[in-house]
Amino acid sequence: MTLWRRERLPTPSSPSAVADVYIALGANLGDREANLRSALRAIEDGARVVAVSSLFETDAVTPDGSDGPPYYNAACRIETQLEPLDLLRFLQAVERQIGRPPIAKRWAPRLIDLDLLLYESDIVETVDLTVPHPRMAERPFVLVPLAEIAGDIVHPILDRTIADLAREAGDAGVRRITGERWGGLGGDGPG
Ligand code: AMP
Repeated sequence: MTLWRRERLPTPSSPSAVADVYIALGANLGDREANLRSALRAIEDGARVVAVSSLFETDAVTPDGSDGPPYYNAACRIETQLEPLDLLRFLQAVERQIGRPPIAKRWAPRLIDLDLLLYESDIVETVDLTVPHPRMAERPFVLVPLAEIAGDIVHPILDRTIADLAREAGDAGVRRITGERWGGLGGDGPG
């Protein structure tokens, strides 16, 4: 099934509408903070990064409950003219640039993972892309960072704010590790 509802169509006076998009970043291999910073820098080559959450360390979540190395997670808001599928391809190219192999096992540890969480209030269901991200609403490691920068945003299917979803999901296994010096781009890292 392909369902793609656009509520923000380009018009003759605004031929290339800019979309507000939220992305989740994660890494649990290598220098995790450096990987997230590299991803943000690479994203800036194709979009404008307008907000970045704090940096969090989170317990790995696996379907069988087995341990994996803990993740660093963050969320960012970008403005882009890329359509959703083109944006997904762009994010996958950034993952490869940072060293993630093109075919990676779904729950395997990874140098970088970029998930497209929200694209305006669009709903996209294609073979390659589902937006809003189908598992975001029950994942504290996504919702806690996202709520910092998108608390008032309403999930277009669940019709609830991100702050509300984050409160319900709780923050088990999620530890905030940065202060002001993270900021995602630039800086020397957490102090
Ligand atoms: P993962 O291993 O979690 O990074 O999953 C990557 C796969 O999920 C890719 O094959 C994508 O095509 C697919 N996918 C579907 N929806 C999304 C989304 N909203 N964001 C990122 N990947 C997605």
